[in-house]
Amino acid sequence: MVGILLPLVFVGALNSYGPSAPPCDATLPSQLDIIDCRLAAAVERSLERSATLREVVRRVGALQGRVYIRTVVSVMPGGPRSLLGGLSHDVVTCGPYRLLHVTVRHGYDDKAVATIGHELQHAVEVLEHPEAGTQFEVDGLFLRIGEQVAARVMETRRALAVEAMVFRELRRAKRQPGRT
Ligand SMILES: [Zn+2]
Repeated sequence: MVGILLPLVFVGALNSYGPSAPPCDATLPSQLDIIDCRLAAAVERSLERSATLREVVRRVGALQGRVYIRTVVSVMPGGPRSLLGGLSHDVVTCGPYRLLHVTVRHGYDDKAVATIGHELQHAVEVLEHPEAGTQFEVDGLFLRIGEQVAARVMETRRALAVEAMVFRELRRAKRQPGRT
């Protein structure tokens, strides 16, 4: 289960930055900022293999969104332990852009990248609604378009569909000879 958090608490953040960390040479579209270098590299590779992931990233950019993604040990301490990721409802408007924050559990495989696709779809759902500019308004939006699946966790069918599609495309690309 993957969910949207309200509110999201950032704790236990770990990333690969540090004095001895190698430079991060992953190149991602400017609308995505992934603090964990290893995850950034996994997403960069996956963008070549998943049209659905490419499309959801394109939509974020077209809708003037900027999404910051960080990896943590626990997405929502005290919440469902199976939670793989969440989108903070705390949106920041900066000029023409809306800034959104996603938290995902540490993971670098196809499942982890599919979770990124899922959370980016939630970002698109916010960005598609110009009136959703505050946490209160985003709470209201997901009460309208989503359903509650656990305490403080909302879900939408579109996000689940994107996650499944990205995972399928990544798997399919892997099976094709000559593809990585
Ligand atoms: Zn979700």
